[in-house]
Amino acid sequence: MSPTRHAAARALLSDPLTNKGTAFTAEERDEFGLHGLLPPHVGTLDSQIERRRKALEEKESDFQRYAFLRELQDSNEVLFHALVQSDLPRMLPLVYTPTVGEGCERFSEIWRRPRGLFLSYPNKDRISDILADPAYDRVKVIVVSDGERILGLGDQGAGGMGIPIGKLALYTACAGIHPSEVLPILLDLGTDNHARREDPLYVGWRAGRVRGQDYDDFVEAFVSAVDDRFPGVLLQWEDFAGKNAYDLLVRYRDRLLSFNDDIQGTAATAVGTLLAAIGRTGVPLTEQRVVLFGAGAAGSGVAEMLVQAMVAEGLDDRSARARIWAVDRDGLILSDVPRLPPQQLRLARDPAEIAGWNVSGQNMISLQEVVANVHPTVLIGTSGQKAAFDERTVRTMAENVERPVIFPLSNPISRAEAHPADILEWTGGKAIVGTGSPFGTPGVTQVNNVYVFPGVGLGALASGATAISDGMFMVAARRLGELSRTDHDGLLPAVTELRDVALEIAVVVAAQAQAEGLATAEPDALTRESIAASMWQAQYA
Ligand code: NAD
Repeated sequence: MSPTRHAAARALLSDPLTNKGTAFTAEERDEFGLHGLLPPHVGTLDSQIERRRKALEEKESDFQRYAFLRELQDSNEVLFHALVQSDLPRMLPLVYTPTVGEGCERFSEIWRRPRGLFLSYPNKDRISDILADPAYDRVKVIVVSDGERILGLGDQGAGGMGIPIGKLALYTACAGIHPSEVLPILLDLGTDNHARREDPLYVGWRAGRVRGQDYDDFVEAFVSAVDDRFPGVLLQWEDFAGKNAYDLLVRYRDRLLSFNDDIQGTAATAVGTLLAAIGRTGVPLTEQRVVLFGAGAAGSGVAEMLVQAMVAEGLDDRSARARIWAVDRDGLILSDVPRLPPQQLRLARDPAEIAGWNVSGQNMISLQEVVANVHPTVLIGTSGQKAAFDERTVRTMAENVERPVIFPLSNPISRAEAHPADILEWTGGKAIVGTGSPFGTPGVTQVNNVYVFPGVGLGALASGATAISDGMFMVAARRLGELSRTDHDGLLPAVTELRDVALEIAVVVAAQAQAEGLATAEPDALTRESIAASMWQAQYA
């Protein structure tokens, strides 16, 4: 065999997109000169799944399983995705939340092979050059983070790359986007997490975070380069800290096909699940009283979408806002607080409203006091504050409403506002509970964005949408609410049905894009059949 043929054989095995491991057939081994490089056994995808599943279960911790799956993804993508899809309830918590949290914190320990792109600040003049690699010619979906607000774990710097990698694994698992069409990107602009920066193993750029104009210029250079290199690409902003999350969304949502999953995806997921819960309680949306704890990217996104949903059901904007109380680190958000960020100002209450409230007189109104005075029907946590929904608060809520709806959405598990089993105990089982991460508590729904973003992305791509509108997220939320099932635990379809959910959402999102004049694809491409046919299955070609 010629040296080039030997090199090509090795390249085939070392590229995770072409490697089939022992599943290369005898003919393929002849054709590509693989004899000797592989053991003689010829396996099947099913036998490979079984072998990997066994090895996975022999690991001692979920973090080890996470690292094992990351290595598998980097050696054989079809096998990785086939294994993930063979058992979504088991695999999703390993490739995504909650385990991905530790995966980001310990990313540097387990970095082995390149996946996705690190665009580091010192390379700011090379972004176009880096993106030019022909390996990315097929890219359709980018998930990008700057690692500053990873789940509820704060700044993880370059370790934040675990999130784009994980989310894109879900795009493939749930929406059938081919692995060669996804590109995780980490904007490595330093980290203010000293523990990470001083860790000798840290793989990122060792500097404090770049901020201000330099940050904006870097992101602008990135967006321009993406726009030039990948026209029509879908770009998902992920786990940026609050202000940047908002600013980037506003700045770029009309320039690129893009959305922020923490703001818009969370909103649609929470509202969709809330609609499902309302179906059970019988209290119309326009009569709900909602307390939001943690009015950052996720919380204020949920609030704005709830306002839109209430307005669609007949309330005016003012009356809808009057049904939402937002609480942040300084207690109930009041409009006389100086320098509130715009997204909180829109949710702030008039101090006159609370004049008659029974409060302790401290300079802030606590969550407990808000709950005691408002008698909310819904309590949503997006604060990243462990145990913030304490027994007293939850019991107070349950005293005043028939079926309290309580969603401690913060991830990972270590940041959840309450354990769902405690909520059920404190409310005598009356509460309808949804959590961000899976707790395995019977009857509790996992309110995770994975129910929405793959379908929104798939629908946007299928319709050739030029932008992702609020209307597209609203139909996604409504469809999710409609898919609510009464024949099993929890409010939403089971995790095993996530591919069907993504398809259902994609169909309504594509139709909405068309209705709003945002679709460029032919009408034939928007049907359920065409969208379903475009979804990749993890099988060897
Ligand atoms: P963020 O940093 O933008 O917002 C967090 C907010 O909580 C901020 O406004 C902050 O001031 C507030 N906060 C902090 N300490 C507080 C305290 N003691 N009391 C009240 N408020 C306090 O982050 P984000 O993107 O909104 O995410 C917040 C949490 O929501 C994270 O844990 C994240 O994992 C979770 N989340 C869950 C899902 C899901 O699918 N379930 C989706 C998105 C975000």
